[in-house]
Amino acid sequence: MREKEQSLYPIVANFLAKSHQCFRTAINEGLRYSRADVIGIRDIGGDLTGEIETIIVEVKRGSEAFATSSGQAFGYTVYANRVYLADKRPHGFSQEEVQIANHLGVGLICIDAKNKCSITLTSPFYKPLIRLNAQLLEKLRLGKCQLCESYIEIGDGNNRYTRLARERLDKAINEEKGIIFWNREVGDRKDKHGVRLVKENSTYERRFLCSDCVSLLGQLRS
Ligand SMILES: [Zn+2]
Repeated sequence: MREKEQSLYPIVANFLAKSHQCFRTAINEGLRYSRADVIGIRDIGGDLTGEIETIIVEVKRGSEAFATSSGQAFGYTVYANRVYLADKRPHGFSQEEVQIANHLGVGLICIDAKNKCSITLTSPFYKPLIRLNAQLLEKLRLGKCQLCESYIEIGDGNNRYTRLARERLDKAINEEKGIIFWNREVGDRKDKHGVRLVKENSTYERRFLCSDCVSLLGQLRS
């Protein structure tokens, strides 16, 4: 019996974490318009910026139409900076397959007979839709500090903001936490002009500060 596609997800996730130095991976993650087989997040900003990169991999077990699978992988460019198709190929990808992937602009990860992964083709870098990428990162409990622009852990498991104090600077400083606050002026403007696509009750228009920036701000008190 052929192996299930889903059994390959953790294998590809482990490979992605190692080959791309991802500090966070996720498998079978539901997104607003689709579902991603494997997601990896890595730091790419060097020592001077907190930039991160989102990578999404579409995983197949070697039995589906290649151009269709490649096109599916390309679709993730609305969420991610790099997109890959990982496909089972005991003898590697054919030259024509590499040409198709290259033409469409998706990277290729080869899964061999022993489920060992290797990169055949690197993905180009894309600029995703900012809203969809930010939603994906928040689902993985990552949020951007508005001061130093680094991405920080904002919650645990199903709890979105457990690592943050809510609009209480004194509490955040004392507990050495980051902070979540809401921008009501911008929130009201988006409501007024109907640009908010999905109502999320009280948690709309939220912003974060990391614990390091909060600690610096704490010096203003003394
Ligand atoms: Zn910060």
